[in-house]
Amino acid sequence: VLRIIPRDEHPVSRQLFSDAALKVLYRLHNAGFEAFLVGGCIRDALLGHMPKDFDVATDATPDEVRDLFRNSRIIGRRFRIVHVRFGREIIEVTTFRGKPNDDHGNHIAQQSDDGMLLRDNVWGNIEEDALRRDFTINALYYNIADFSIHDFADGVRDIDARTLRLIGDPATRYREDPVRMLRAIRFAAKLDFSLAPATEEPLEELSPLLLQVPAARLFDEVLKLFMGGHGVKTFHLLREYGLFAMLFPEADEAFDELPWAEGLIEQALASTDKRVQEERPVTPAFLFAALLWGPVQLRQRAHQQDDMPPVPALQAASQQVVSRQLQHVSIPKRFSLPMRDIWDLQQRLPSRRGKRVFQTRDHPRFRAAYDFLLLREAAGEIEPGLGDWWTAFQQADEHEQRRLLGKVD
Ligand code: ATP
Ligand code: MG
Repeated sequence: VLRIIPRDEHPVSRQLFSDAALKVLYRLHNAGFEAFLVGGCIRDALLGHMPKDFDVATDATPDEVRDLFRNSRIIGRRFRIVHVRFGREIIEVTTFRGKPNDDHGNHIAQQSDDGMLLRDNVWGNIEEDALRRDFTINALYYNIADFSIHDFADGVRDIDARTLRLIGDPATRYREDPVRMLRAIRFAAKLDFSLAPATEEPLEELSPLLLQVPAARLFDEVLKLFMGGHGVKTFHLLREYGLFAMLFPEADEAFDELPWAEGLIEQALASTDKRVQEERPVTPAFLFAALLWGPVQLRQRAHQQDDMPPVPALQAASQQVVSRQLQHVSIPKRFSLPMRDIWDLQQRLPSRRGKRVFQTRDHPRFRAAYDFLLLREAAGEIEPGLGDWWTAFQQADEHEQRRLLGKVD
């Protein structure tokens, strides 16, 4: 049932919204369309956080939206949405979506045999749109016409109770879109909410559905999971429900054999979380290097046992781990190449003779590789010592560097 909360009974003010978001809302409104802010921005505003990106929902079709904004383009096939650009900011405008089934139970939207939604461009009204969203707290709409909030699924109640609850039957909703399982974990970790029992219950059993999600979509989701500032907590929740194994199967298998492998990932995520909190840059390459280092080590060892020398063994191992991983979560070349550099350099960091040491130090990926080495020592994979040597070497003047090189045997 719809509850409309008038402006004087909620704390969400227009000052929390960007100029760009307001411009889009007012232009739609002035053209006679309905225009609402919806999703994360309203949820975050109600939680007292500053919203960072803005999603607009409207009864205007994508073509009508396009016609209103010169700076806009229609993107997406599965969900056609319009991106309106203002400088670096992009406002996402979506047309209200209707029910996937008509009243006679016929499929209007395209579904796979497993119930997964393939395409979903059936327009509807705001109430239908609300019930198609994932969580109750994500189905709150701020109306630019009178500044009221429309709550169709008791989202405000769940915000107050700090509960994450799927709208509708959880198993059905996870089957329609298995990525909702990852979103559940992401929001639970980020907002520090608990999962409603029925929302939690199917996770473990349905986790294998993630194997059917395109690897490119999972890459985007994995970045949000691990680079959002709550990576450690997210990782533990993913492990708890068996979801991590569906994203990184070989890494998950390595936990049984390598006592340090899980700690290495935790350390990498902890340092990523810290950097995010400090608003310092983070790179996916480093994180993926840590996520997959366990299986790389296992495979390298196996090759060396078959008498392959260490360097080609590492290369073969890296190649195999990456190609298997790409079947689950894609990693764009711009991240997988530096990731492999970080791995290769692990081989070079121990050899500190003559010119080699300067070549290693001047490698564009040296800094990341050095940080990775420290991580391996901290996780207990290797004895500490080499990290300290490189720390000293980087800080040393020429004279001191010669002394350090002399100490290497
Ligand atoms: P944030 O942007 O902080 O990650 P968000 O809730 O805004 O959180 P978006 O991915 O930007 O998340 O999606 C915007 C809104 O679209 C969501 O709040 C939700 O209402 C709806 N939505 C997004 N993804 C799905 C999905 N897979 N299934 C159903 N609804 C979804
Ligand atoms: Mg959003």
